[in-house]
Amino acid sequence: MSKEFDFIVIGGGSGGIASARRAAEHGARVLLLENGAMGGTCVNVGCVPKKVMWNAAQMAENIELAKDYGFTVENQGFSWPHIKQSRDAYVERLNGIYDRNLANSNVEVIHGTGRFVSDHVVEVNGDQFTAPHILIATGGQPTVPDVPGAELGITSDGFFELAALPRKALVIGAGYIATELAGVLHGLGSEVTMLLRKDLLLRSFDHTIHTLLMEEMESSGIRILKKVQLSRLLQHADGTLGFEQSAGDDEGGFDCIIWAIGRHTKVSDLNLENTDIDLDNAGFVVVDKFQNTAVKGVYALGDVTAAAPLTPVAIAAGRRLSERLFNGKKDLHLDYELIPTVVFSHPPIGTVGLTEAEARGKFGDDLKIYQSRFVNMLYAVSEHKAPTLVKLIVAGEEEKVVGCHVIGVGADEMIQGFAVAIKMGATKADFDNTVAIHPTAAEELVTLR
Ligand code: FAD
Ligand code: NDP
Repeated sequence: MSKEFDFIVIGGGSGGIASARRAAEHGARVLLLENGAMGGTCVNVGCVPKKVMWNAAQMAENIELAKDYGFTVENQGFSWPHIKQSRDAYVERLNGIYDRNLANSNVEVIHGTGRFVSDHVVEVNGDQFTAPHILIATGGQPTVPDVPGAELGITSDGFFELAALPRKALVIGAGYIATELAGVLHGLGSEVTMLLRKDLLLRSFDHTIHTLLMEEMESSGIRILKKVQLSRLLQHADGTLGFEQSAGDDEGGFDCIIWAIGRHTKVSDLNLENTDIDLDNAGFVVVDKFQNTAVKGVYALGDVTAAAPLTPVAIAAGRRLSERLFNGKKDLHLDYELIPTVVFSHPPIGTVGLTEAEARGKFGDDLKIYQSRFVNMLYAVSEHKAPTLVKLIVAGEEEKVVGCHVIGVGADEMIQGFAVAIKMGATKADFDNTVAIHPTAAEELVTLR
């Protein structure tokens, strides 16, 4: 006999926990299954430990800047083991907080791997459970390509296990993770080479943003190799690691190689073949805008679906699903338009809405671009002058803001507020009618001409 709940959630990451707790708040009897550390990717091997490391790299940069402000400071060394230990302890505290929050919300938790026996029966640790509503929130995992020697490289998961700062690192990939990890390693003192199969970092971002990012990363000393068709990784006789394009054309000397070429869904344990749930060609669970899968009463959200793989997206979809199922909000679903995002690069990027290329595709020539490049006052007294760039893309006669892109110090904290205005339908005139806050970098966005 299977034990019955109102809601079974498979996966205790950002989306699963948010959905489970919200359902329980509305009185549902909820079972959550998690086969790893509570909190999922974001808490354990994603946003949280990454942001700690980004902060550490920012500290290194600020120590240099402090000299220009008259401080007698010297970066006399950096202890990777110190920050790793503090970071791991912080993550462990968060794991505990998640466990306690779930318990306080009366969500029953079982640590184990959830597998479908049939459309509405799930097995974990040999016991079977059933519910009219089941959520798949099993997230994703890093992709490692099928090339000889691939196992010599680590992934972002391995990055967080490193016991020491690599001396010379190779980062393969061109997306968020490659950009962020390369920036962190370089900021903390590694010699960093990036390897791109094409010629751009963050190719899907606005061209002005990725062009400036690459200029800045290269001028800071990160080597970016473009259009490299890697054929294998190898280990040299001296123990160092290398890569090869064609036979004999190899480069070595690395003590760490990181694969950051994308992620794929975690569905292989779920025994989906026992259900009628559909996957698309890329392995994402197919859902409609209400997170419904092909099986009535079974839902999916977060990184296991083709939605933007970001923590707040998984959380927002999870909470809305539970409001719909257990609080009578029948039409509630997440609007996936205008999702703001930040890349914790050096300098950071904040962006919401369409890129210029996307906007041209949608609005043709009925567009106007407002843009300003300047040096943040942080660098007023320093020799190093890192640029900031803000860009607004507006469409139509009313000049509705359809894209807002910022790169530079503070972009990470700046974009959230502008995203509210843009989501509300702000026009260029609304921006102009807002009095600037001086002296800030953000004021440039309301004074663009
Ligand atoms: P996850 O958080 O991955 O949770 C899925 C959970 O399901 C996992 O805990 C897993 O163990 C569990 N599970 C899987 N299969 C089973 C099973 N069969 N039974 C039981 N449990 C199972 N996003 C941001 O918004 N900002 C950032 O700065 C950011 N930085 C990132 C940095 C890195 C290095 C990475 C890798 C990701 C980052 N992300 C960031 C993305 C973010 O982490 C994900 O979008 C988010 O965690 C997705 O949440 P989720 O609930 O869909 O899946
Ligand atoms: P991304 O999808 O961002 O980038 C991976 C990139 O690697 C691809 O776009 C591709 O770029 C390149 N690539 C793909 N295959 C290969 C290959 N075989 N060899 C070399 N390069 C290859 O994936 P990430 O893993 O970086 O991140 C996954 C997601 O996690 C992100 O999309 C983001 O949503 C989320 N995330 C969010 C963060 C944040 O909010 N700050 C931080 C980190 C992750 P190209 O086609 O140009 O070669």
